[in-house]
Amino acid sequence: MFEKFENQVWDCIVVGSGPSGGRIAYDLTKSGAKVLLLEAGQHFKKTDFPKPEIESSSQMFWGGGIELNHDARLGFLRAKCVGGTSIVNQALLDRFDSDAWNDWNQIASLNFSEQKFLPIYETVEKSLSLEKISDKYFGKNTKIFIQAFAKKGLGWTALRRGQKDCGLDHGNDCIACLGGCPRSSKQSSMVTAVDPAIEKGLQLIDHCEVETVSEKNPGTVITATVKNKSAGTSQKINLKSKAVVLAAGSFGTTKILLQSNFKQKHSYLGKGITCHPQYMTFALFNTPIDSFKGAFQAVKSYDPKLRQMGFKFENVFAPPIATSMLFSGFGRQHQDLMMKYKYMASMEVAIRDEASGELEIAKNGKMIVRKSLTAQDQSRMSQGLKMIEEMFDGSGAEKIIRCPQAFGLHLMGGCSLGTNESKSVVNPEFKVHGSKKIFIADSSVFPSAPGINPSLTIMALSHLAIPSITRGIA
Ligand SMILES: Cc1cc2nc3c(=O)[nH]c(=O)nc-3n(C[C@H](O)[C@H](O)[C@H](O)COP(=O)(O)OP(=O)(O)OC[C@H]3O[C@@H](n4cnc5c(N)ncnc54)[C@H](O)[C@@H]3O)c2cc1C
Repeated sequence: MFEKFENQVWDCIVVGSGPSGGRIAYDLTKSGAKVLLLEAGQHFKKTDFPKPEIESSSQMFWGGGIELNHDARLGFLRAKCVGGTSIVNQALLDRFDSDAWNDWNQIASLNFSEQKFLPIYETVEKSLSLEKISDKYFGKNTKIFIQAFAKKGLGWTALRRGQKDCGLDHGNDCIACLGGCPRSSKQSSMVTAVDPAIEKGLQLIDHCEVETVSEKNPGTVITATVKNKSAGTSQKINLKSKAVVLAAGSFGTTKILLQSNFKQKHSYLGKGITCHPQYMTFALFNTPIDSFKGAFQAVKSYDPKLRQMGFKFENVFAPPIATSMLFSGFGRQHQDLMMKYKYMASMEVAIRDEASGELEIAKNGKMIVRKSLTAQDQSRMSQGLKMIEEMFDGSGAEKIIRCPQAFGLHLMGGCSLGTNESKSVVNPEFKVHGSKKIFIADSSVFPSAPGINPSLTIMALSHLAIPSITRGIA
């Protein structure tokens, strides 16, 4: 069934279809290259995203919804579908500041700056629709956040989201962002890159999980398993290409290289995992807040003091099942709490964590993520949570509920970028050190946590990598 894919040498095979893979597949296809995109998850149409929240978790995420670190104190979310995590994310698209670039330059001996990336961000942004949430759509949850910030003398700003006609002016409050946008408003990599590239000739195999990659002069070989979901069968395939781009995300790309025995040559492979760990805090009010109405998430902290302290706050809410999973407790007590969904406001703190995590493959082939919060991470988290409690206290909340589970949504590192081969895996030309044909520019190359939403910069790095990949194909 897959002979037509196996019996040819592709110019480039791209593994993974998130902000990095989608962007690279689009740019290469547009330039006339013969490109095959492999994605472990399903290619949903906007009308087929699973509707019940529980189904979207099980069908669109790795680990059936959530993956855990080695001691289950940190949960990780990463999507498994065409479009990658951009299908389920909040689409906040922020540029790095000089602090983030300087940190990378120092750790990885790079030469990046706001000035260098200005034209790159501009090019990437031109391919997206970006909207700042207007204050006319600020709901009560947002207003509480803004008033609390004013009392504390902290700065905030409206969010800049990748969205187009979200329908807020027609009263849309679908709150479906985390399960795939049914109106193609969200500027996911499926909407902005993969589907347009398919129209230009990109070939895609979905349900195709790549296991290994190897460099065989003059090109590369990939082994993968393709699942036939309806028949319940699977098939192993081998594919050849002149060059490979691994864009399977921090965990996915690192796992493929570990399975391909790259650790022997690259001792830093798997190290430096960061994830901007975050905790949600809910507050109960005695009047309805209806946080699910209006813009789901509209503002965020924007204050040099907080940047220096190493954390940020976001005014985010969640659909009911996600919310219920955040609370501890069982039975009647849990049910009573959920009955107060209408009366809840929420705030999230996300910290800029140290690069202490490491990804390994156990003997049984399972992925293990060893990642604990360091003393500095814990101190940042406590300061952030304390500030949220003070802000909710000052806003007249009746009760404050701290959610015990931390989540890592921005998975980064594992194949760090850098010049020093003992402290990195990928060189500044986005090639695996010592390789001529294997390229990486996704979230796995982040040498440290920027403390800023990563997607726009993942797209920018991927765009920057195109000339080098094109030379690799030649
Ligand atoms: C709930 C949530 C909210 C978020 N909100 C924001 C936000 O507002 N702004 C922001 O900037 N970031 C946000 N993020 C993070 C952001 O979406 C990710 O950092 C980004 O998508 C990573 O891009 P990527 O291309 O590196 O990987 P991904 O987007 O994860 O894409 C990797 C793709 O590779 C596929 N894959 C993995 N392994 C294999 C394999 N072996 N074979 C084939 N395919 C494979 C995966 O299925 C996936 O589709 C959020 C994340 C979550 C979970």
